[in-house]
Amino acid sequence: MTMPNMHYADLKDSYLFFHIARKVRAYQETHPGVHLYRMGIGDVSLPLCDAVIKALHEAVDDQASKESFHGYMPEPGAPFLRSAIAEHYRRRGVDLSDEDVFVSSGASDELGDILDLFDRSNSALVIEPAYPAYVDANVIAGRRIVHLSSGRESGFLPSPSAEAKADILYICSPNNPTGAVFSRKQLQEWVDFANKNGSIILFDAAYEAFIEDSSLPRSIFELEGAKTCAIEICSLSKTAGFTGTRLGYTVIPRELKRSNMSFNDMWIRNRTTKTNGVSYIIQKGVAAVFTQEGQRQIRENIAYYKENARILMEALDAAGVWYCGGKNAPYIWLACPKGMGSWELFDWLLEKAQIVGTPGEDFGSCGEGYFRFSTFGDRADTVEAARRLKELL
Ligand code: PLP
Repeated sequence: MTMPNMHYADLKDSYLFFHIARKVRAYQETHPGVHLYRMGIGDVSLPLCDAVIKALHEAVDDQASKESFHGYMPEPGAPFLRSAIAEHYRRRGVDLSDEDVFVSSGASDELGDILDLFDRSNSALVIEPAYPAYVDANVIAGRRIVHLSSGRESGFLPSPSAEAKADILYICSPNNPTGAVFSRKQLQEWVDFANKNGSIILFDAAYEAFIEDSSLPRSIFELEGAKTCAIEICSLSKTAGFTGTRLGYTVIPRELKRSNMSFNDMWIRNRTTKTNGVSYIIQKGVAAVFTQEGQRQIRENIAYYKENARILMEALDAAGVWYCGGKNAPYIWLACPKGMGSWELFDWLLEKAQIVGTPGEDFGSCGEGYFRFSTFGDRADTVEAARRLKELL
């Protein structure tokens, strides 16, 4: 008899979004036609910028004639895009070669696939509250997970310690859900810790473009020694509105080795076995993001979300609610007011103000008592939600 991967039975039900959707549906059934202010899900509301749309159209036309047609793309990514991304790092003072960069079809895909590089006997550290995919991908692989809770006292930015020892270390900065960002000094401590223990950091930089404080690191490779202990996973989803168009990239420095094995070589071998590259058309569209004009245009969209964040933070300040994030991240993480639990606040906001947020509990047990607002919504909705919050709180 074929045995399934029994680790699937160990997965917690994807309770969070299912449960939110069910509660919202039930509310809508009993309140037909009532408008909801959706600040729960981390999906963008603005379209792709003009530079990207133009490049996508041109790429579609390329595929229409024999002379400019492209078939299979190189599995690690089109040279023009690997080069544009590496140059983007170099402009910020991070010295990468084009070969260190791999194009992916998105950070989620990559966060799951990248685990192929690690032996199943490796343990994985997840700093919680955390993006749920880190835990789930390792449960599926049957790995031992070390859960490290973080809290308000450290600003949700814990330091390495004996209890944080593991082979694979997940670090997400700016963080989803807390919006907290590691300082250079704090991140250096994790890099030194990883190098000392022979661990590898999986650095999730999906929200790096939201950092506005120039003293904060946007890439782990800005730090001394990171090339021998880190892989960086990035996404165009929130940076440039690619949630539905799909593209990400991953940096695996050629210096990253364990037991004489190069992770960069292994990933080339993995990609050539498991993918046939990312669509030419989409890679052309993303190359436009890394032009001067593309960068200017995506910055305008990011500024729109940041203004949403400012509007919400102002309402929370007026109401005297504790929160972190929002400034260098598109998420605001607040302590539930009036002694409410996460789900209690969810129900209360839905009932009293028609606002949908995300309860903290499902990002790890230490998320109980906290709540996440996404700032990717529509401006008019955000303004009205902020007004309702001020009135209610
Ligand atoms: N990493 C984090 C921390 C995220 O919040 C998300 C998406 O919300 C992803 C990765 C996935 O990004 P992508 O859309 O590129 O799969």
